Amino acid sequence: MTTTNIWRVKKADDNRLREELAQAACQLKDGGVIAFPTETVYGLGADARNTAAVERIFTAKGRPSDNPLIVHIAQREQLNELVLPYPQLAADLMDHFWPGPLTIVLPVRPGVLSPLVTAGLSTVGIRMPDHPTALALLVQAGCPVAAPSANRSGRPSPTLAEHVLEDLDGRIDGVVDDGPTGVGLESTVIELVGDKDIRILRPGGITLEALQQAAPAAEIDSGITEEPETAPRSPGMKYTHYAPQGELELVQGDSEAVVAYIQAQVTAARARGEITGVLAFEERLGRYESDTVLSLGSELELDAAAHLLYAALREFDGAGAQRIWAECCSIHGIGAALMNRLAKAAGNRIIFV
Ligand code: AMP
Ligand code: MG
Repeated sequence: MTTTNIWRVKKADDNRLREELAQAACQLKDGGVIAFPTETVYGLGADARNTAAVERIFTAKGRPSDNPLIVHIAQREQLNELVLPYPQLAADLMDHFWPGPLTIVLPVRPGVLSPLVTAGLSTVGIRMPDHPTALALLVQAGCPVAAPSANRSGRPSPTLAEHVLEDLDGRIDGVVDDGPTGVGLESTVIELVGDKDIRILRPGGITLEALQQAAPAAEIDSGITEEPETAPRSPGMKYTHYAPQGELELVQGDSEAVVAYIQAQVTAARARGEITGVLAFEERLGRYESDTVLSLGSELELDAAAHLLYAALREFDGAGAQRIWAECCSIHGIGAALMNRLAKAAGNRIIFV
């Protein structure tokens, strides 16, 4: 067991923030593993150059060692020591989207980062988070910080420090608590195809539509929606993620048919003595009768839904839900990321009615 420190920095002014973070930054520098807020979800950080430190991330999370980590930086100048020369398009994307939830896969400079970070690949995913506390911590630590989401592997990502402690208390050195995160879903991961094109390896906070402004032919990798025949372009694609403890099924189709199907399933499950849950949009929330019914807000405001998703999945666990049914949403804008996470949480069980 490790003692997990908690640094509460919510609403701290700049000076207080620096003081509170000094200890966390010090531990990061010394090979500690520290959870911290970003604009996407809470990350679990370690010095990306230090193999013993990075190893502790994998151990704390129970993460498979072939799934590489994203490296977080606070300043563009840090890039040159981490990666080899890259196309102008990547620089343009950084100008436009950094700091922000966009991870760009770039050719790694050999020998600088721990091999555990890249999982043996010749590339590394890098991003600059758009969160003042994260940036202040990264500046003070003064090193590139490898940070996956701060949850046990396979569990929903944490959008509150309490979620981090639920999963990792006693397994990490500390958590910087700055209240709820912003987007609520992880960053968009992209790779460049040649000099001019973009392929999305994981949908996230920066939408396909926004990326198409920079590269009109940008597209979502087919491995995300179909079973890849060869090795996936991004190792994380092959893992079931974000799952609640109960069995989740997504239901897609005409809204009246969706309501009828879900309610019939819930009623039958309850008759069998199972504890049930429904995850639905505000528009139809009142139509369901189940042990737990949770709202993702309006289906017309998917940014807000993204923000609510992971906390809702954890709430079903708290309620002991054994069977859960969820409505689907449009795949435009942030909806693509939302449906991607829902499908992963459901182990791709999607019923068309
Ligand atoms: P997480 O750390 O849980 O946010 O997951 C990071 C995601 O980024 C995983 O899906 C990884 O497979 C993906 N990723 C990280 N580095 C690379 C890379 N060099 N090439 C492709 N995908 C990557
Ligand atoms: Mg994760």
